Amino acid sequence: MTLRIYDTMAREKRVFEPQDPKRITVYVCGPTVYNYAHIGNARPPVVFDVLRRLLKDIYGRGSVVFARNITDVEDKIIKSSQETGESIADITRKYADIYNADMASLNVLAPDIEPWATKHIEGMIRIGESLKRKGYAYVTKDGLYFQVDQMDDYGKLSGRRQEDNEAGARVAVDEGKRNPSDFAIWKFAKEGEPDEAIWDSPWGKGRPGWHIECSAMIKAELGDTIDIHGGGIDLQFPHHENEIAQSECAHGETLANYWMHNGFLDMEGEKMSKSLGNVKLVHDLVKDWPGEVLRYALLSGHYRAPLDWTRDLLEQSKTMLDRIYGAYRRVWGDGRPVADDRHGVRDKLMDDLNTPLALAELNALASEANKAADEKNEQAMETVRNMMFDAGQALGLLSKTPMEWEQGGDGDDNARIDALVQARLDARKNKDWAEADRIRDELKTEGIEIMDGAGGATWRRV
Ligand code: AMP
Ligand code: ZN
Repeated sequence: MTLRIYDTMAREKRVFEPQDPKRITVYVCGPTVYNYAHIGNARPPVVFDVLRRLLKDIYGRGSVVFARNITDVEDKIIKSSQETGESIADITRKYADIYNADMASLNVLAPDIEPWATKHIEGMIRIGESLKRKGYAYVTKDGLYFQVDQMDDYGKLSGRRQEDNEAGARVAVDEGKRNPSDFAIWKFAKEGEPDEAIWDSPWGKGRPGWHIECSAMIKAELGDTIDIHGGGIDLQFPHHENEIAQSECAHGETLANYWMHNGFLDMEGEKMSKSLGNVKLVHDLVKDWPGEVLRYALLSGHYRAPLDWTRDLLEQSKTMLDRIYGAYRRVWGDGRPVADDRHGVRDKLMDDLNTPLALAELNALASEANKAADEKNEQAMETVRNMMFDAGQALGLLSKTPMEWEQGGDGDDNARIDALVQARLDARKNKDWAEADRIRDELKTEGIEIMDGAGGATWRRV
């Protein structure tokens, strides 16, 4: 089986051929950290987490270098600092931590490298100088600009060339530009802007534009040419187009051999956006739903297609996972399963990350598990248990034991319930039947069922 991925640049699926199978380099544009991530923002990290797991399985754990940056200097962060009076350093640290915790609750593995833009200012300046020296960049009263018509194949990723880069919203209006499509590599500091967002440069004090941040971080952390560059489809133009322009004109090499873009997430049929007031934050969703339910829902559609986020989708995802974990419980043995890859999940992922079909394979495994359990076929039960474990790892699901899944809740709450269950056992030992029944009834009102067994008692949420 070979890995095929849809390359946005080639506009077709291509067999993946790494430059060096011992060091596969992947870069995914990360968050701008000034507020909470919504569930749409979580789609790229989850999708590319599946890709990363797959690459590690194919090429070996140590052979994949996965970088996701933190954009910690940007107009919106400055604005937030000016409005709240909090320092930029405090705002970005706080929201980067929240982001990483939110992603961890969706079983997204921490990146191998997490570069912060402000640690790479020198690299950004070097690229700017090189572009200016080669005649690709010029200085206006507002900053250093990239001159789009100097690059022959500008627009090759998106097929968009003449459109105004102002449409990208992150470029300030500048009358000194030679062409409306020209974009800022460096923006001169304006009156009243915080010192924290001002650096020296050969052209004047100021800060980097958003696109140069990624160009510089990729070069410093991964090299001139990387294997795979990913992000949401909105980044294809202008962000990725402009990363290409800067990097390729500065060093003369292809920036990325494969470009992957995920489709957008809609909210009940509408675009998810703050102005419509229909944004669902990951931070809030994880209070009501297990992280794996959110992940299952995100993976239920193909990553390139738009995904409609609805209450139904969440409920269905929960039902599916309950069924899968229920089957997993029936074939559960002693201790941790041993990975067995004789299942169809990875084959489906090898075809441009076909997660809907991969989830169908996982559901088929659950049916196999139920059959093996019905037949009390110990051998088959062990095999399917190990396959479910391995399939779960490929998808970032089934990270809990079936008992943990059925218990649900958070650690503190589970500890409280464990204590009550133990108190009931103690009451029974002391023949205090009234107290034992009282505890059972109390837990029942919370939707918790106690199951007495030979070795004591376990419990689950019903
Ligand atoms: P931003 O904070 O707007 O730079 O977005 C961070 C990441 O989330 C980018 O990779 C975007 O492409 C992605 N993104 C933002 N909104 C959505 C959405 N509704 N659906 C899918 N991806 C999104
Ligand atoms: Zn980027």
